[in-house]
Amino acid sequence: MSDPFVWRELRDEYQLVAQRCSSCGVVIYPMKHKICPKCGKIQEETKEIKLNPHGKIVTYTVQYVPGPGAKEFGPPMILVICDLDDGGRINGILTDCAPDSVKIGMRVKLELRSLYTSNGLDVYSHKFTPIKE
Ligand SMILES: [Zn+2]
Repeated sequence: MSDPFVWRELRDEYQLVAQRCSSCGVVIYPMKHKICPKCGKIQEETKEIKLNPHGKIVTYTVQYVPGPGAKEFGPPMILVICDLDDGGRINGILTDCAPDSVKIGMRVKLELRSLYTSNGLDVYSHKFTPIKE
């Protein structure tokens, strides 16, 4: 018996579990596709791979207007889209970085961090942090 869908999805997200297309080799993340988005081959056997959390910023924006929701998302908030070194494109929040220091091509790492607290419980997700080189 396989894990319930919600637990499998959490595992894939928190541990960066992706799949590699058995035909063209492209990395598919998140693992929600039964058909390869690049070559169209049906994925009958899923080959899971754990992605390296390192990558680089492809594009970003700095949000200065407060959005709805948790006060922890107050401005300025840096939103980035990153390509991971092993493949896969992920968006998220960049932290531990001043808005005027962000650069396209900047090396970053995904870390599991607390996003906010709801009803006394921490809600975790990934945040990007700069790699100090
Ligand atoms: Zn493919």
